[in-house]
Amino acid sequence: MPRPSVLKRMFADERVQIGYGLLLILLIPSAIIVATVATIARYSQTIDITLQRQALLVGRVFGATVWEQGIAPVTLQRRVEAVAAANADILGLQVFTPHRDGFEIIASVVPEQVGTVAASAYYTYAWQQAEREGLATDYLGEPLLGSRAGASTGDRYWLVTLPLFADVEGDGHRERVALLSLQLSSGIVDEQAAASWRSAVIGLTFTVLLTVLFLAAATRLWSYATLYRKIKEVDQMKDEFISIASHELRTPITAIRGYVSMAIDGDFGSVPEKLRTGLERINGAGKRLGDLVEDLLNVSRIEQGRLSVSFQPLDLGEVTGGVIEELRPTAVQKQLTCEYVAPTSPVKVMADPDRLKQVLFNLVGNAIKYTPKGSVTVTVSLQEHGGCVRVKDTGLGISAADQARLFTKFYRVASDQTRAISGTGLGLWITRQLVSLMRGEITLESIEGTGTQVTVVLPTPKSAAT
Ligand code: ADP
Repeated sequence: MPRPSVLKRMFADERVQIGYGLLLILLIPSAIIVATVATIARYSQTIDITLQRQALLVGRVFGATVWEQGIAPVTLQRRVEAVAAANADILGLQVFTPHRDGFEIIASVVPEQVGTVAASAYYTYAWQQAEREGLATDYLGEPLLGSRAGASTGDRYWLVTLPLFADVEGDGHRERVALLSLQLSSGIVDEQAAASWRSAVIGLTFTVLLTVLFLAAATRLWSYATLYRKIKEVDQMKDEFISIASHELRTPITAIRGYVSMAIDGDFGSVPEKLRTGLERINGAGKRLGDLVEDLLNVSRIEQGRLSVSFQPLDLGEVTGGVIEELRPTAVQKQLTCEYVAPTSPVKVMADPDRLKQVLFNLVGNAIKYTPKGSVTVTVSLQEHGGCVRVKDTGLGISAADQARLFTKFYRVASDQTRAISGTGLGLWITRQLVSLMRGEITLESIEGTGTQVTVVLPTPKSAAT
C-alpha cells in the first residue's frame, strides 16, 4: 500500500493534469474562434468597401451621361442594360424623374418597369436631400448607401440612391433632374464568409478532437509514470524489508549454530551417536539458512548501493590458495580431485579482500557443488588485461539456454541432477555484481554433461592506476 503522503501527492498531480487539460480544451478552440471571426470581419469589411466603390462608380457613370446628354430615356435605358449585363452583382438599377404622383421610372434593368410611377417617401426624401453629389442620408438618418436584406430572398444587398444633375438652362448651373437607384448584391461576400466559417468549424472540430486524443494519450503516459513511481516505492519497501528481516534473522541463526556446535563438541556432556547425527543435521540446515540470509543481505546491500569496496593491492595467488585450502575438505568428502595451479610469480591485483574471497568461495564452491565426480582445477595467472582466476570443473555443465539466464537473480537450473542440490540462485548474480564493483570481468563457458569454466579478470595495480 502506498503511504498516505504518496496518495496525496498522486491526487494533487492528477488534479494539476486535469486542470491543464481543461485549460487546453478551452484555450485552443477559443483562440481559433477569435482568429476566424476577426479574419472574416476584416475580409467582409474589405469586400464591402469594394462594393461601395463599385456602386459609387456606377452612379458617377450615370451622372456623367446625364450631365453630358440630358435625360434621354432611350440612351439611359441602353446604358442601364449595358451596365447590368457587365455586372452580375447588380440586382436592380432604375432611373427616376419626379412626377406629380411621385417618381416615374424612365430606365430600368426590368424594361417592363419603365413608365411606372411610384409614390415613395424614401425617394422624395432622397430627392430633397440630394443637394450635393455623393451620399445622402435617408429619412431615418441612415446613409442612403446601406446594406439591406432582400424582402423575398433574405439575401443582403447594397442600396445606393444618388441624384443625377444636368445643365438644363445651358448656363452651367447644376439642376437635379433624376434619381438613380441601384441595388448591388452582397451574395458573393456572404457566400465566401459562410465558406470561411464552415472551414473554420471543420478545423475547430479536428483541433478539439486532436486535443482530446492528445490529452488522453498524455493521461495514459501520466498514469504509467505514476504506476512506475508506485512500483519503485514498493520495490524500495521490499528491499528495506529484506534488509531488516535478514539482519534480524542473522543473530538467532548464529546463536542456534553456536549452541549446536557446542553440543556436538560435548560442551554440555556426552552426546549419544543418534543425537549427534540429529545435531549435525540441525547444524547443516542452520548453515544453509545462514548462507541464504547472508545472500539476501548482500543482494539488498548491492541493490541499495550500500556495498562499499575498499581497493588494495592483493596477491591473487595467495588469496585463491587460501580459499582452496578452506574448501578442499568439501571436495575431498565428495572424492573430487581439487587442483590448484599457482602462478610462477606473484600476481598482484587491485581488489577488496573480503569481496574477492566471496567471489572465489562462490565460484569454487559451485564447481565442487555441481561436480559429482572428476576434478576441480583452479588456475591463477597474469594476463594482458589483468590478474586472472580460472575455475574449471568436470561437472554437470550448463545448457546454452540456461547460460543465457544464469546471472539473473534467483535463477537455478532445473534438472533431475540439480534438484537434490540446495541453493538460492543468488550466488552467480552476487558474484557478477561484486566483480563489476571491483572493475573486473567475469565470463562463463560450459558444455552440458562435460563441465564448466568460469574466468574472472581483475585489474592489476598498474592498469587500475591508468
Ligand atoms: P545456487 O548455486 O545457489 O543455485 P548460483 O547463482 O550460484 O545459485 O548458480 C545458479 C545455477 O547455475 C545453479 O543452480 C546451477 O544450476 C548452475 N551452476 C552454477 N555453477 C555451476 C557449475 N560450476 N556447474 C554446473 N552448474 C552450475
